[in-house]
Amino acid sequence: MTTSAETRWLTPKSPLTGEPAGTVRVTEPQEVAAAVGRSRSAFVGWGAMSHSQRRPHLRAFAKLILKSMDRIAQVIVSETGKNLADAHAELIGTLVSLDFYTRRAEKLLRPKKGSSWPFLLTRGWTEYHPIGVAGIISPWNYPFYLPTLSAIQALSAGCTVVIKPSELTPMCGQLIEDLALEAGLPKDVVQVIHGYGDTGAALVDADTDIVAFTGSPSVGRSIAAQAAQTLKPVVLELGGKDAQIVLEDADVKDAARAAITFGVFNAGQQCVGIERVYVVEDVYDDFIAEATKAVGRINAATGDNGDIGPFISPNQADVVETQLQAAIADGARLLAGGSKINTDHGVYFEPTLLDGVDHSMVLMQEETFGPVIPVMKVADEEEAIELANDSPYGLHGSAWTKNKKRGHRVASRMKTGTVAVNDHLINFLYPTIKFGGIGESGLNGQLGEEGIKAFTIHRSITSARLGPTTKLLSAWLPRRVGPRYWKTLARVLFGWRR
Ligand code: NAD
Repeated sequence: MTTSAETRWLTPKSPLTGEPAGTVRVTEPQEVAAAVGRSRSAFVGWGAMSHSQRRPHLRAFAKLILKSMDRIAQVIVSETGKNLADAHAELIGTLVSLDFYTRRAEKLLRPKKGSSWPFLLTRGWTEYHPIGVAGIISPWNYPFYLPTLSAIQALSAGCTVVIKPSELTPMCGQLIEDLALEAGLPKDVVQVIHGYGDTGAALVDADTDIVAFTGSPSVGRSIAAQAAQTLKPVVLELGGKDAQIVLEDADVKDAARAAITFGVFNAGQQCVGIERVYVVEDVYDDFIAEATKAVGRINAATGDNGDIGPFISPNQADVVETQLQAAIADGARLLAGGSKINTDHGVYFEPTLLDGVDHSMVLMQEETFGPVIPVMKVADEEEAIELANDSPYGLHGSAWTKNKKRGHRVASRMKTGTVAVNDHLINFLYPTIKFGGIGESGLNGQLGEEGIKAFTIHRSITSARLGPTTKLLSAWLPRRVGPRYWKTLARVLFGWRR
């Protein structure tokens, strides 16, 4: 990144090659209000469109993304250093949500009737209107999927968006605006501004109607506090410490492979990655044997042909090493990996498997964001659930058992916003149901009906069928009835319900 007195620029460098991925100008905090103003002007047209008028625009956007997969993936790789196949896979998330919301937005946002009981002479319903301008602030680990996911829900609801991508992946963010324009979306419906935390904070303070933030819990908390000054709604998607519970009747091979895959995927820089594993003692040794085999099969080569890439920023290696060394000093046993690999341009970390960990270790308590899988032996299902739930985070988790009913029962008891039975991560892509964390992991959430409705004003309307129900109830002033009237009315309406 380079800085000059007047103009600041972002020039992200590839963690694979050290090559610059591009350059964009920083949007200074004092310029943010103007961008939001342009978005508000664009909202006049976009927000007034019917769903069928907006749909062709969003379809054209989807078509262009599909056609441009190679182009987008190259930009993702150039900024993050992730594997090219993983960069392509990331786009599936965007396409799934675009497909779902372009098809279903109209139905999801159809006015919802309420029952008239007991006010039979009044009809009531709730309408969902676009809230206005959505400010979207996103992180670097899924630099195309995450900002587009929030944007797609906002746009489908009729909002315009101003996106502030991570300062580490501005070119991916810029590409979203470029593609939206190329696809023919009206000017300023999708805008991207660039910069650091101060630009993001200015977007929260500006005349935005909602802020959708994905990132760390500490920044999420400061955004929520800032937004609370004007009671601006927020959607927060924050960090996680996903637990995997492996019961004695699980398919141990599948569970072990999942632990390794979702533990090391994207170099562990994954909000919904497996960060701690609780295995019931009956199958513990089998699990460790399978996990050791699975981790040995990961191609940890540096360069662009490894299964996992470098960290986006070298500092992350220090966080991971510190947690790991503390765990080893306290008795954890290293079964594979454990070292960072410095190259000329980036820092990699070996896929790392540990057992003999204790639930109280920092490695089991705080987000690691590295390719490290700590495994702990537990006595039974109860202990596994208790330890999994003993966390300030509550993003995602998984339960592994061949007995589906048991899996569903365990899933229902896990204190997280989402759970997968015999799988992991899939909820992050699954468009028809809500995804979102609780506790330190977030507020409100995305996807499903709730995701799109977050970007709407819920306006409830009642309409008198014959005349004012309040008048018929003798509630109007001057008062014509006493307490006896209300007691009789209450008995007539509810006395028969025993
Ligand atoms: P981060 O919180 O440091 O930054 C996220 C974004 O917020 C960036 O664009 C940054 O410039 C901006 N920002 C920083 N300070 C700000 C402020 N004061 N006001 C407004 N904006 C500000 O997070 P990161 O390092 O980019 O991402 C990693 C974190 O994101 C991890 O904790 C990870 O778990 C989380 N994450 C969560 C999800 C999810 O869906 N729950 C998905 C991906 C990542």
